[in-house]
Amino acid sequence: MYDYLIVGAGLFGSVFAHEAKKNNKKCLVIDKRNHVGGNVYCENIDGINVHKYGAHIFHTNDKSIWDYVNQFAEFNNYINSPVSISKGKLYNLPFNMNTFYQLWGTKAPDEAKAIINKQIEKFGVKTPQNLEEQALSLIGKDVYEVLIKEYTEKQWGTKATKLPPFIIKRLPVRYTFNNNYFNDKYQGIPIGGYNKIIDGLLAGIEVRTNVDFFKNREAYKNIAKTIIFTGKIDEFFDYKYGKLEYRSLRFENSTLETDNFQGNAVVNYNDGDIPYTRIIEHKHFEFGTQPNTVITKEYPEKWTPEKEAYYPINNDENQNKYERYRKLSQSESNVIFGGRLAEYKYYDMHQIIASALKKSKKEFGNKVS
Ligand code: UDP
Repeated sequence: MYDYLIVGAGLFGSVFAHEAKKNNKKCLVIDKRNHVGGNVYCENIDGINVHKYGAHIFHTNDKSIWDYVNQFAEFNNYINSPVSISKGKLYNLPFNMNTFYQLWGTKAPDEAKAIINKQIEKFGVKTPQNLEEQALSLIGKDVYEVLIKEYTEKQWGTKATKLPPFIIKRLPVRYTFNNNYFNDKYQGIPIGGYNKIIDGLLAGIEVRTNVDFFKNREAYKNIAKTIIFTGKIDEFFDYKYGKLEYRSLRFENSTLETDNFQGNAVVNYNDGDIPYTRIIEHKHFEFGTQPNTVITKEYPEKWTPEKEAYYPINNDENQNKYERYRKLSQSESNVIFGGRLAEYKYYDMHQIIASALKKSKKEFGNKVS
């Protein structure tokens, strides 16, 4: 008998398990994949840590979260500065003075602001209802058309007018020559890869991989006093209120006999007729000097139940459905739901850790780091 059965060895499950162990609780962690780490898992190819389930760049504004992850690995000083290719031209991201110079030749903030404000005024919407309206009222028509619309519609497989506004608010707009994709105070990649963090979190905890909770539900139901469930909430309730929608991805990896393919870890491809959204060159996350390089093309795909569910599609219809599942989850007295899939939330890594620590505190009082 265990105190906690933790379903899913991703960041949420691993942080919770770590805190539970510190509080002398007996835990069993299961995962249906053949490895731990969820989507932060890295595979070592030719000495390069390949982010197998998409690029992960750690960033946070919260010193306590930064200190927490630094217990398990030292972080390097990588700063994410992606570039985007649109109709054959290259632009800096996020939207900043470099981007504006590349678009219009403006050299001073006032010149760029004048153009953007004129376009925002012309659009004239004060309370944006969808991603397109949000983008047009934040940054104007030119940036939207050159760097957002096609990328977004390819990424999500739907019109930008059908997507929630919050997605585009993730990206900073700056009137300085600063290509840092994030505004957060702390940022970097763990030296030695993300597996080091997961291994540190799960040290001394019983883990079983290749175990599908749903295929063994009866056997695992009464194995612990409490279940921490980090999988899809709709699946947990047998799709009682219908299926929630997700967006999936397909990754195409290649090893190339060159030491530097694209000169940057992340290059986005805006054009709708190019089927992938970005090419990741993994070695640049860790300033690698290997003779070869590994690149990954990231293709957004329609999600079907046998595919990985990467992004929740948080439109009104899905949110209403999720809300019903959430209410139902409250009646499950011995199950705690957490993480991107169980909370149906577009979480970043630091937010998952914060959420797992919050739920741990609720369970164990203040004996949580
Ligand atoms: N986005 C865009 N153009 C870009 C990069 C991002 O329009 O070159 C939009 C797009 O809608 C995307 C959102 O910004 O879904 C968030 O991008 P981010 O890079 O934060 O997403 P993630 O890395 O989580 O996929």
